[in-house]
Parts: sequence; structure tokens; C-alpha cells
Amino acid sequence: MTAGPTREAIDPVRYISNHSSGKMGYAIAKAAQELGAQVTLISGPVSLTTPHNVNRIDVVSAAQMHQQTLSIASQHDIFIACAAVADYRPVAVESEKIKKHDQQMQITLIKNPDIISQIAALKQRPIVVGFAAETQQIVEHGRDKLQRKNLDILFANNATETFNSDDIQVTALTKHSEQEIGPANKASVARTMLQMIATYTAD
Ligand code: C5P
Repeated sequence: MTAGPTREAIDPVRYISNHSSGKMGYAIAKAAQELGAQVTLISGPVSLTTPHNVNRIDVVSAAQMHQQTLSIASQHDIFIACAAVADYRPVAVESEKIKKHDQQMQITLIKNPDIISQIAALKQRPIVVGFAAETQQIVEHGRDKLQRKNLDILFANNATETFNSDDIQVTALTKHSEQEIGPANKASVARTMLQMIATYTAD
């Protein structure tokens, strides 16, 4: 699993990131462990305690998350990508703190690797489960991501209602189905998600 945000360095003291708390991912890791799974949790920077008996690997940037995930993915049956991976990173990381001079400044960004798409493209691939945190047309954008990234299951939710919240409502999408889960607390939604994943068969 991946969880939490990533941080993309601009200079030694600044970064680009997002509001992901990691709570949903950590709730899934905990619930999966309690159901008997061996869980590896590749986590961006969050202030959450590691669930009992979960193997946590800390990363900061999308590049680090990408490298760690790809190196162990084929040893796992299921990949759940809960992380809010930064879409772009600065092309160059300044070695010294940037000083303020001009009224405007520009930072050139370059796309980060899409971790879940690369896992879904592996020959020996695990069941691949993604998330889509959207602010509008949530189900439409979710269905588009399910197809484009070649995922088995995708959980689509409202980004602004969810970040740092203890509750969540999601729409679970597969190629042929659509099901509402919640609103309920993230622990209970995590258990329902895992039931869906455990009974999923590709068709
Ligand atoms: O950012 P986006 O909405 O495309 O994220 C959809 C899914 O793709 C999420 O499950 C997220 O964890 C995953 N993702 C990823 N690598 C990226 C961007 C997103 O694994 N670089």
C-alpha cells in the first residue's frame, strides 16, 4: 500500500505538497493486518502512528515512493494506492535557499512517474486498487481513471470533504459495477473496502 502525501523539494527549506493526512491509508493498513494480511505500508510524511504489525517504509518524495513500490510490488498479491502523490516536481532542486528579489518568480515543474499505472502494467501484476480524490464530477473522473490506469477497483471520493476528516463517503467502481460506501468512519469504510477487494474477481 501507499499512503499520505509526497513532498517535492524546491530548495533545502521549501517543498510542494498537498493536504493528504494519510488517515484513510492507515485505516486500510490496520484493517488489512487485523484480517490476517501481511501489510507493507509505503508512507509519505504523516503524523500517524504505525498500525500494529505493519511493515512501514517511510519516503518523502514521489520518486522515492515510486522506487520503493516498484521494488517490492511483485512480491505482493494486492496493491492499494492510497497516497496523494504530487503530480509534478520542480525540475531542479536549488542547493541553497532561494532569496526573494523579484515581484514574480517561476518554478518549472516536470511530471512525476505514475506509480499505480506502472504497477498495473506489470506482467505478473497484483490486484490493483486506486483512489480518486476529486472536487467535481467525482464518479465520471473516477471511471476515467479506472480505465486509463487499467485498475481493478477504484474508490472515488470528494477531496475537500475528506482530507484530514475521520469520516468518508466513497463510490466503489469496477468495470461493471458501482456501489456507495458510507458515509461512515474511515475504519469501518476500510473494512468494507477490504471485503470488496477480497471477493473481487477480474471479469
Ligand atoms: O493523482 P490521481 O488522481 O491520478 O491519483 C489516482 C490514483 O493514482 C491514486 O490511487 C494514486 O495513489 C495513484 N497515483 C500514483 N502515482 C502518481 C499519481 C497517482 O500511484 N504519480
